[in-house]
Amino acid sequence: MTLTTHAIAGAALASLTPAQPVLGFCLGFASHYALDAIPHWDYPLYSSIDPDRGGALVLDRALFIDLFDIGCDLLLGIALSFFFFGGSGALLAIIAGIAGGIAPDFLQFIYTRLPTRPIKAMQDLHNRTHSPHRLRQEGRSVLGIASQVLIIAMFVVAANILAAH
Ligand SMILES: [Zn+2]
Repeated sequence: MTLTTHAIAGAALASLTPAQPVLGFCLGFASHYALDAIPHWDYPLYSSIDPDRGGALVLDRALFIDLFDIGCDLLLGIALSFFFFGGSGALLAIIAGIAGGIAPDFLQFIYTRLPTRPIKAMQDLHNRTHSPHRLRQEGRSVLGIASQVLIIAMFVVAANILAAH
């Protein structure tokens, strides 16, 4: 799933535990695996930054395209998270939730370069919980993008309803 969706889901959960950023991080972290279990859409990666491809990083056009896409995805996720939840006053918790939500994908990147035991365990968990359905490759990109917008909307609405109680 996109980093945008993971970031907002993490921020939404963390906004419910405003005084406990560590718990917010853990909730965001756990939500990553739950969300990845849903058949979803991802934008294509062209360089060895793709964990499925791996290998040495080469400073080429493909890497710059990937870094641009990932950077935009990440910035959009952070910006929308602050837009939706920044007003709650739980800034540290929100940041922790975003970090937890996106951390598993960065661990994948580290795994392909530094496959130490704990990181390998996290990678195994990621692989095991990840849906085998990749909607872009299955020609269902519209459904894949629409469903992520819906998931984001559900997290934002649910967090707002829960926060109001
Ligand atoms: Zn993931």
